[in-house]
Amino acid sequence: MAILGAIEAGGTKFVCGTGDEKGNIHDRISFPTTTPEETMEQVIKYFAGKQVEAMGVGSFGPIDPVPGSNTYGYITSTPKPHWSHYNLIGRLKEHFDVPMTFDTDVNGAALGEYTWGAAKGLDSCLYMTVGTGIGAGAVVRGSVLRGLSHPEMGHILVRRHPADQYKGGCPYHVDCLEGLAAGPAINQRWNTEGRELPVDHSAWEIEAFYLAQALMNYILILSPQKMILGGGVMKQEQLFPAVRKQLKELLNGYMQHQFLHKHIEEYVVPPALGDNAGLSGGLALAQLPLGQNKC
Ligand code: ZN
Repeated sequence: MAILGAIEAGGTKFVCGTGDEKGNIHDRISFPTTTPEETMEQVIKYFAGKQVEAMGVGSFGPIDPVPGSNTYGYITSTPKPHWSHYNLIGRLKEHFDVPMTFDTDVNGAALGEYTWGAAKGLDSCLYMTVGTGIGAGAVVRGSVLRGLSHPEMGHILVRRHPADQYKGGCPYHVDCLEGLAAGPAINQRWNTEGRELPVDHSAWEIEAFYLAQALMNYILILSPQKMILGGGVMKQEQLFPAVRKQLKELLNGYMQHQFLHKHIEEYVVPPALGDNAGLSGGLALAQLPLGQNKC
């Protein structure tokens, strides 16, 4: 069985690991994301001598994941200091001459859940992370969703909650979904860390109000067969029933599938791969070119 290398390149930390085509993780390491030079030095040191046969990188973005493009392999317009226009895949290629697949962290996580997790056996799924930022990726019949670049589903526009006075925190769009519902928005709206707020605090009803709108829009546009919600904010388990309830109300019986009514708790779910969703996503990305070679 091939040894695969996986990198979960996050804005706060990097997780590197090795594993196999069955999704088993053999080994892992994580370290804080600092400058590209320092961080990539640690990545290269970790993989040196591990003889991986392919690598998959799920990265914070925006990135250029389109092979053949001039800036393929780059992290592009990120506001994160030092990382904008950084050629991450180019740096890896200087040291490892193996097939590499580069995509967003959420497209990776969606592919991991599709291959080994909550969406195993289905034709499609969507993975949304709600943490420091909000992003979503999707898989349709084994392919991650890409187009001009990659989807940026965290920055869609949503209706405002009537009781919400917070102006929004997105540097580009102010009150887009991420601006109103990512972790920092919760902290700033209530002037405290989200995890300090009681489970019955109105913060969670407002949060669910925004997330449910996002899920409704994703369902109407993509019709995924499973919606998987991960990230730090989704550790607040009370959000799941609250989001499902508001989602059903928003859909208002328009779509007749049982997963949008009686069985919605099987449709909007946490990641089956838990905190390994990101690293497993890297493994799933890594095996894509190997799979293609076998065909
Ligand atoms: Zn935005």
